[in-house]
Parts: sequence; C-alpha cells; structure tokens
Amino acid sequence: MSDIKINSISKNYITGDSTVRALNDFTLDISWGDFIGISGESGSGKSTLLLITGAMLMPDSGDYIVDDINVFSLSQEKRSDFRREYLGFIFQSFHLMPYLTAVENVMLPLAVKNISKKDKYKMATEALGSVGLSDKWKRLPDELSGGEKERVAIARAVVNNPRILLADEPTGNLDSKTSGEIMSLFKQLNSDGMTIIMVSHSAECIRASDRLIKLSDGKLVYSQ
Ligand code: ADP
Ligand code: MG
Repeated sequence: MSDIKINSISKNYITGDSTVRALNDFTLDISWGDFIGISGESGSGKSTLLLITGAMLMPDSGDYIVDDINVFSLSQEKRSDFRREYLGFIFQSFHLMPYLTAVENVMLPLAVKNISKKDKYKMATEALGSVGLSDKWKRLPDELSGGEKERVAIARAVVNNPRILLADEPTGNLDSKTSGEIMSLFKQLNSDGMTIIMVSHSAECIRASDRLIKLSDGKLVYSQ
C-alpha cells in the first residue's frame, strides 16, 4: 500500500448540455516526501487533479486514500478536518485578502484552531520569516511585489505545517529570477519533509521536482 493513492479518479464537468471529461481514470501512487511536478497542456486536467487532491472537489468516481483514510468517504465535516490537518494549498492567483495585512492573511488558516491570538500571531510571523518576509508583515497585498505576494501565499499554505503542499502554477506570473527563489523555498520545504505536488508549465520549475508526471486529456501519459 502506498502512502498516498489516487485511484482511478474520473471527473466530468457538465454545463448545459455539454460534458467535459476533465479527468479520465487517473491513477497515481505517491510516497511521503515526494516532490512531484505536473505538466500538461492547458485544459489537460491539472487544476482539477489538484483540487481533488486538495479534497476541495469531489470526483465522480475513484478513491483518494491518504494514510489509509478514504478521503471522499468521509463526512463533509471530517473531510474539512482532514484538509486542515494534511493540506496546504497555493492557488494560481495567490487569493490573498486585499484588506488584510500579510501577517493577517497568513493567520487565516489558524482561525478555527484552538490557539490564543498571541500564538497565532507568533506562528504567522515565523512562517513569514521562513519565506524571507519578516520585515513586511504589516503590508497589504497591494504594497507587495508579485514574488512577495507569492511568498505570503506560501507562508499561509505552510503555517499549519501540512504534510502535503499543493501548488497550482506557483510561478506563473513571476520572472525567472523570482521563480528560481520560490523553487529554492519549495526544495527547502521538501527537504524538511513536506510532500509537494506542483503544477507548472516552466521547465525550470519542473526540473526542481524529483518526479515528473504529464497529463493529456485527463489521462496520465507519462510518469517517471
Ligand atoms: P488545466 O489546469 O490543465 O488547464 P483544468 O483542470 O482547469 O485543466 O480543466 C480541464 C478541463 O475541464 C478543461 O476543458 C476545462 O475547460 C474544464 N473545466 C475546468 N473547470 C471547469 C468548470 N468549473 N466547469 C466546466 N468545465 C470546467
Ligand atoms: Mg490549471
């Protein structure tokens, strides 16, 4: 039994009278500590795969098993607990709250935790420090560069110390120097033990991963 098993997942999107087969019988075994890069053309199903792996979207069929937990057979409440305990997610366009400062954005995932405000603040400040942003904790997203916003998004995704970090084209809007820095951060997180699953178009980012998979029309066409 592998550590993380994505087993025969299919997902269709139905809009009006058209059906898009976004994932078609997709299977992948993942080990703790893997750093997986996912490539594939636009529309091949990468974001759908990440949303399902993030337990944020239900597949039509198939299983997703993490540490013997069958994620999609959990109740909605238990699935939220699972998400909080295991997963950190970095979205394609950062998704930072524009009216919250950097440190307040990073504190968001801690909202439901039974931790004092002071400790939440401390955890968020430490997470910002770990991505090299200790001096900018008070800034609003609009007062940060693209690379800095990305770092805040990473700090927010890792503040809970999740076992799995999911990132959808994390360097899509960044120049190559900044994306190199972001990849060094990911490599650091991975060598500290975090399992990373990252979608990227960039050859440079894909090189940072140590397992490469490729999707085409919702199917796995390549895995190394
Ligand atoms: P990628 O991230 O590789 O570009 P996606 O997973 O976003 O691919 O999309 C896979 C296919 O599913 C595409 O054809 C896309 O248009 C379609 N799709 C994605 N999300 C939705 C949605 N919410 N409703 C309808 N179709 C969708
Ligand atoms: Mg996508």
